[in-house]
Amino acid sequence: MFDFLKRNKEYVSCEWLEYGIHFNLSGLYHCCMYAHSNANDFPVSRLDFEMKYNFKDFLEKKNKSRKNFRKGIIEDRCKGCFELKKKNWLKQFKIKNMAISTNTSCNSNCIYCYTHNKKKYFNKIPDIPIYDFIKENIKKKIITSDCNIQFGGGEPVLNHEFEKILNLFIDKCFNNIRIHSSGIKYSLAIERSLQNDACNLVISPDSGTKELYYKIKCVDKFDDVWSNIRKYAQAQNKKKDMLHLKYIIIPNVNDRVQDIKDFIDKTKESGVNHVLIDLEMEWYKNNRTDKEKITKIFELVKYFESYARKSGLTHSHNPTICTAINEGYHELYDSIVVDI
Ligand code: SF4
Ligand code: SF4
Repeated sequence: MFDFLKRNKEYVSCEWLEYGIHFNLSGLYHCCMYAHSNANDFPVSRLDFEMKYNFKDFLEKKNKSRKNFRKGIIEDRCKGCFELKKKNWLKQFKIKNMAISTNTSCNSNCIYCYTHNKKKYFNKIPDIPIYDFIKENIKKKIITSDCNIQFGGGEPVLNHEFEKILNLFIDKCFNNIRIHSSGIKYSLAIERSLQNDACNLVISPDSGTKELYYKIKCVDKFDDVWSNIRKYAQAQNKKKDMLHLKYIIIPNVNDRVQDIKDFIDKTKESGVNHVLIDLEMEWYKNNRTDKEKITKIFELVKYFESYARKSGLTHSHNPTICTAINEGYHELYDSIVVDI
């Protein structure tokens, strides 16, 4: 009913600008694009003097931006973004995309992480509460169960509100949730969400041996992580395969064929059925024009795919590999055949 009130004419905008919120430690953003590109990295709404989010300020600013886009004005922070598209957007405001990064603390210390060189500092920053905002807006039906939710961080499991928020989502039948975890601390809420097909859990051990794990993560938690992976694998609905293990290729660290083989063998043994392959983002940014180096990476990716298939695992690419293939290396990628 009253459909004319809800829909507007077609105009250029994006899913995140219209319906997105990214909770970050420096404030509230429309999206997390600034983390993956050269987009403007200033929050739409900064933290208030008590270091809390000012939701009222954010929603007012979002409303203003949505009106601008409706009038055909593309704001500076979005100019040139590949997420922009022309379509009919709902006039009524809803949160359909949510990225939650409200803590930087983490029990791992990955060498490629932005927190690596200032670990103590990032581990001390207090997380910012959002539970009440989420609960209130579920009640108002601004956040509904079809919302696409991503937990990142930091390690989300260390966030003091994590179990409470995830349990709330499960209770309200949200089932489009993605969680990136170090896997070091076991979470009963994650276990429950896997049992309920509510979340897609990604753990990135990047290695299949204790020595290599330590070299990359700088913490002695290899056995804990794989023990937790096995428990999560048992909890998940086997038909859905919601638990994915990731291997980020870090050149000169874990780029031997044997390293990949160890990872896939360990994955197989743990009861997980799906693996993801990616490439360390900073390395790619600095080497994207070096065809010889990119060829070596693609050979490893193809080996990874081939050995995963042979081991009975399904596989997919994560963002940096997709970007490398799409940035002019499609033919190169297709030309490499590794069959084992
Ligand atoms: S257009 Fe791009 S930068 Fe702007 S809100 Fe959407 S995803 Fe973010
Ligand atoms: S698990 Fe994630 S947040 Fe933690 S150190 Fe590694 S990359 Fe950083």
